[in-house]
Amino acid sequence: MSITPLMPVYPRCDVRPVRGEGCYLIGERGERYLDFAAGIAVNALGHGHPQFTKAVQDQLATLTHVSNLYGSPQGEALAQRIVDNTFADTVFFTNSGAEAIECAIKTARRYHYVSGNPNKTKIITFHNAFHGRTMGAISATNQAKMRDGFEPLLPGFDYAPFNDLDAALALVDENTAGFMVETVQGEGGMTAGTPEFIQGLRKACDDHGMLLILDEIQCGYGRTGKFFAHEHYGITPDIMTVAKGIGNGFPLGACLATEEAAKGMVFGTHGSTYGGNPLAMAAGMAVLDVMLEPGFFEHVAKMGDRLRAAFEQMIPNHDHLFDEIRGKGLMLGIKLKEPAVARDFVAHLRDHHGLLTVAAGENVFRVLPPLVIDESHIAEAVEKLSAGARSYAPLSDD
Ligand SMILES: *Cc1c(COP(=O)(O)O)cnc(C)c1O
Repeated sequence: MSITPLMPVYPRCDVRPVRGEGCYLIGERGERYLDFAAGIAVNALGHGHPQFTKAVQDQLATLTHVSNLYGSPQGEALAQRIVDNTFADTVFFTNSGAEAIECAIKTARRYHYVSGNPNKTKIITFHNAFHGRTMGAISATNQAKMRDGFEPLLPGFDYAPFNDLDAALALVDENTAGFMVETVQGEGGMTAGTPEFIQGLRKACDDHGMLLILDEIQCGYGRTGKFFAHEHYGITPDIMTVAKGIGNGFPLGACLATEEAAKGMVFGTHGSTYGGNPLAMAAGMAVLDVMLEPGFFEHVAKMGDRLRAAFEQMIPNHDHLFDEIRGKGLMLGIKLKEPAVARDFVAHLRDHHGLLTVAAGENVFRVLPPLVIDESHIAEAVEKLSAGARSYAPLSDD
């Protein structure tokens, strides 16, 4: 037998972390990495955050899991806090981002069904989108690498180029339920939606009775310097998916909706055995205890500005390698000039300079540090990145 016990769907590398300390990961041989990947935008508070750790430990010892058949003081408290701080009136808790997407798709279709428009099932999504790996989520992207071999997929999706409002509107017909879009695309290449695009989708939904679903699984929860990325655009969605930073590493996601958009989601229409259990709720509450302190998002915005400015200064010194900077806040991407080297450059930074980043589409590498970084981490990251750029010879040394 040659298949590995861990199903070999990831190209796992030689970084084998066994411990985390703040913004650092420590490998099996004791080597240290500056973690500007943060579990792909998950470890918003870094590793081993004392307040978070204590809250989860206390809840673990008190009550870990009960069925959603019972009342949930913990779930009600976290949902209320999310409702108080967002556009949403109601929240469904999941264990992952893809499950939040499933709930969003179901909520949107069900809305039109109970509104007397059962034909309105089509959801328009965008090129390079990433919504997760369930059958529903891969049906909602046109990326072949995620879809090939898994067909037939869920019908009822159509795909327009990202940031092309006219193309999106041209796909709307009498069967369209709405749009589902990442406010800032993550895996696809760290491209922020333009204001005209995001605001234009909102307006089209208002004008034609459609629903706007924002996928803020990566760009939400403080990542862009505001609680949610759509706050930069002055609009709100009808339905929104969140995950990643919401649990700081505890598997947690959520589908948020307005009362109107969720009107079809009544008893028996959806469920999850684990979703929103007391342990998960303690993790989610601990994250908000830290994030909703005054000044947290301002800190993210400030660190994002500093990091971007430092990158902008560095780029001219390595203009054979770096093309442009993308993203918002601490959700940054750098596009490389040499074609198709993002993965190779990420490996180079990791193996030779102890800096962890993440590859994305369009030959971009993602810089996604914990949101609690300070100036010293920025200085260290820029030093490592500059050294990495100097020593890098594309596709020769890894
Ligand atoms: C990570 C991600 C998902 C999928 O989340 P999982 O927890 O892996 O299921 C969906 N959408 C976006 C934008 C993401 O970044």
